[in-house]
Amino acid sequence: MNSPVQIKYDGAVAVVQIDNPPVNALSQSVRAGIVAAVEQTDTNTDIRAIILICNGSTFMAGADVKEFGKPPVPPLLPDVITALEAAQKPWIAAIHGTALGGGLEVALGCHYRIAANSTKFGLPEVNLGLIPGAGGTVRLPRLVPMAEAFSMTTSGKPISAAEAHSIGLVDMISDGDLLRDALSFAETIIDQPKPDALSARQVKNPFSDDEIQAQLKTVSSKARGQLSPKIAAETLIANQSLDAEAGLALERDNFLRLKDDPQSEALRYIFFAERSVSKIGSIKNTVANPVEKVGIIGGGTMGAGIAASCLLAGLNVTMIERDAASLAAGVKRVETILQSSMKRGLISQAQYDTFNSNLSGNTQFEELSDADFVIEAVFEDMAVKKDVFAKLDAAVKPDAILASNTSYLDMNELAAATAHPERVIGLHFFSPAHIMKLVEVIRTDQVSDIALATSMAFAKKLRKLAVPAGVCDGFIGNRIMSAYRRAAEYMLEDGALPHEIDAAMKSYGFAMGLFEMQDLAGLDIGYAMRRRKDATRDPHERYVDIADKIYNMGRSGRKTGAGFYRYEDGKTPRHDPEIDALIIGESERKEIDRKPMSHDEIMAGIIGAMAQEGRDILNENIAASPQSIDVVMVNGYGFPRWRGGPMYQAEQNA
Ligand code: NAD
Repeated sequence: MNSPVQIKYDGAVAVVQIDNPPVNALSQSVRAGIVAAVEQTDTNTDIRAIILICNGSTFMAGADVKEFGKPPVPPLLPDVITALEAAQKPWIAAIHGTALGGGLEVALGCHYRIAANSTKFGLPEVNLGLIPGAGGTVRLPRLVPMAEAFSMTTSGKPISAAEAHSIGLVDMISDGDLLRDALSFAETIIDQPKPDALSARQVKNPFSDDEIQAQLKTVSSKARGQLSPKIAAETLIANQSLDAEAGLALERDNFLRLKDDPQSEALRYIFFAERSVSKIGSIKNTVANPVEKVGIIGGGTMGAGIAASCLLAGLNVTMIERDAASLAAGVKRVETILQSSMKRGLISQAQYDTFNSNLSGNTQFEELSDADFVIEAVFEDMAVKKDVFAKLDAAVKPDAILASNTSYLDMNELAAATAHPERVIGLHFFSPAHIMKLVEVIRTDQVSDIALATSMAFAKKLRKLAVPAGVCDGFIGNRIMSAYRRAAEYMLEDGALPHEIDAAMKSYGFAMGLFEMQDLAGLDIGYAMRRRKDATRDPHERYVDIADKIYNMGRSGRKTGAGFYRYEDGKTPRHDPEIDALIIGESERKEIDRKPMSHDEIMAGIIGAMAQEGRDILNENIAASPQSIDVVMVNGYGFPRWRGGPMYQAEQNA
């Protein structure tokens, strides 16, 4: 078998070319090939510089997933990088696509780096519960300022080629032919002394003691109980006062420690779950309709966010509102989102102008006669939605797909009210829709394969994580949320107070507690939903009316300055003894003997309720797998990613 590492010669420059499709993973044959190339070029007296470059769509991705869980076969990656560093001639990494994790560490073993202008660089190991394992924490802070190395390693977020150039991670940006530019670059350095290997250098701009304390504090509060960012931070900081050899040994120890930690296992589980849940076997061979023009009905919170999401994906959008004033407000909302994307540097002025010009608005449904895909985001009211779908039925072309963003309503009933139920589907986005990646794709009973395939492809085009779900009250996520909210409300009557439940959830790793979250969403929303269900509720079912009473006191949550908490400054929740008294009074009224609950007891109740509802959802075929449920809860409901999800947790604790 041919080696995936080939050497070509161009005068005094050797070009070491990696070709290991699909992503040039650092398989054993690649590792061995690089070490052999170092030996060959070291001994070839004609060669004075070496370019390391990859074929295909990207520079070397990290480790080869096929080798996971197998005994490692030498040479190991750290040794390959040490060999590169110790090479007698200068090595130039010529990078395109992504240089993440092991790929970036290989580039750090080289003496120079040049990159195509679209390259992304990062050390994403923390996202899998790990830290870099091949010298990243030692070499990166010796090349770029400590603050930048620290941020990349502890956040796991990638940076652009332009940023990488500005911090000194790359020596040159290539705007054209990468190999040709690398060859020209080689000419400019060939007569210069070989730069010191990174591990022979000092850490650049190390943190002061005060900076260390401040940085550790920030990382720890952002990590919310996740171990890897904290260990990454500690490793980098320790490396400031260690030589490279000791730093590499420390990094290795910490890497191995994290690798076997349950957090890393949970993070690996959810990583693979996210890559599997969008696959639907039954439509494997169905060709999706092309989607270029999208109609959005309703320009409120969700409609505007969905419209922005479509525009950011390069689609044309026509927004339909009920009157001119609502339309103007809706269009303004979209513009505000695009402006904030521009301010945050996510899009350029030119992109902003293009996206803005791709947006049009109208009050007449006829404007959607050429739309390929329509998403309805009007009020959560079946009669209003049915009226909209009847108008859409008449206005759109026969192969247009009609989607609803309903949170709870019966999508089968809505589909059945149209002339073509087979093209009606649910697309449940999350707020803010231009930021949240999750979309539940609700498969109505009669939906056609083509409508399903087109919806999945459309969600992918918006760079969303699409999770198929069946029709039921609340689909996967909101149904589970209703179940654990019910469990938490029982706890209020049984002995816990809102701030205690919220504190337990936050110390478990949630960004926000359930009651803070309800205050943020507005207690009017839950109140209206409960009234909708009054008629069908089993009168014997335990019903907690604390939230109703709080709402009836004129406390609708944060927007009215009070809900479960008081908000004196409009945003910080303050524990309110008046609410405690109300809750304790309710327990007395129902003759419940209140018993205090520990954080562990509270969380056992909440996770237990989530997992039980999850099992019901699986039995009813609403979700395809426990993974689908975990992906929804982690990506839409703040379930701590490093705990895998409620189904994963229930399985671990079984
Ligand atoms: P919203 O009140 O902010 O916006 C609704 C918009 O629809 C308003 O601008 C209104 O003028 C417009 N509208 C009403 N009737 C119309 C009609 N007949 N024709 C055209 N436009 C009409 O509501 P929202 O929060 O954006 O929610 C919209 C939908 O999305 C609801 O079904 C809701 O359940 C669902 N949803 C909301 C959230 C959320 O967090 N807000 C999350 C997921 C799903």
